Amino acid sequence: MPEGDAVWLTARRLHAALAGRVLTRSDFRVPRFATADLTGQQVTETVPRGKHLLTRTDAGITVHTHLRMDGSWRIQPAATRASGGHRIRLILANDTWQAVGHLLGVVEILPTAAEQRAVGHLGPDLLGPDWDPAEAERRLRADPARPVGEALLDQRNLAGIGNVYKAELLFLRGINPWRPVGDVADIDALVGLARRMLDANKERSGMVTTGVARRGEQTWVYGRAGRPCRRCGTLVKSADQGRNPEERITYWCPRCQS
Ligand SMILES: [Zn+2]
Repeated sequence: MPEGDAVWLTARRLHAALAGRVLTRSDFRVPRFATADLTGQQVTETVPRGKHLLTRTDAGITVHTHLRMDGSWRIQPAATRASGGHRIRLILANDTWQAVGHLLGVVEILPTAAEQRAVGHLGPDLLGPDWDPAEAERRLRADPARPVGEALLDQRNLAGIGNVYKAELLFLRGINPWRPVGDVADIDALVGLARRMLDANKERSGMVTTGVARRGEQTWVYGRAGRPCRRCGTLVKSADQGRNPEERITYWCPRCQS
C-alpha cells in the first residue's frame, strides 16, 4: 500500500518523464475513458496531493490517478514494449518516454479547473507546499471520541498517512491506536512527527522508521505481530481497526503504548 512519500516520489518520476513534452500516445484501458485521446497535448506537470496524482496538460485537462492497494507507475523508453499486459490501466507516452500505469485504483480525466472534485475533500497534505499542521490538528480534534488510529488514516484530516506510518507513528509516540483523539494531549507532536517521517522517506523507495534499512528491521511494530517489541520485548499485537477494509489491521506494543 503506497503512502504519501511513495506517491510523492512517483509524481516526481512522472513529472521528469512527461512534463514539457507533447503526448504522442494516450491509451486509457478503463471503460469510462476508453475512447479518450490526449495526443497532441503538452503535459505541464504532475503533482501529488496526499496519495493522489494529478497530471496536467496545456489543454486544461487533468489526468487523476490513485495507486490504491497494488497500483504503480513505471517509466520506460518510448521505443520499448510496455510490459504488464492486462495489468495496464493507462499509458501516457511522448517521443522519448512512456509512463505505464499498472493496476491503478483510480483513472479519470477531468478539467484542471475542477480538480477539487477529486481532491477537495483532502485535509492538509503532509508533503504539500500548503502543509498546515494547525489545520491538521484542528481536523483531528473535531471528533474527540474517535480512536486515534482511525483518525490518522482519514485523509480528510490530513493527507498522506497509510497503515504503515500510522502504526509506526503511534508506537514512537507511545499511544495505543484505540485511545480516543480527545485523550491525546500532544496531537501537535504526533502531527509533527508524521511530517518528518514522510519527509525523511520521500526520496527513497521503501519505508524505514527505525533508521535501519536492513530487510526485516525497517519497522518497529508494523508487520511484526507475535514478535518481541524492539524496545521492551513484549509480544507485538495486531487487530483490525476502522472501516476501510483495505487498511484496517493495526499493530502495537501493549506495554509501550497506552
Ligand atoms: Zn514495547
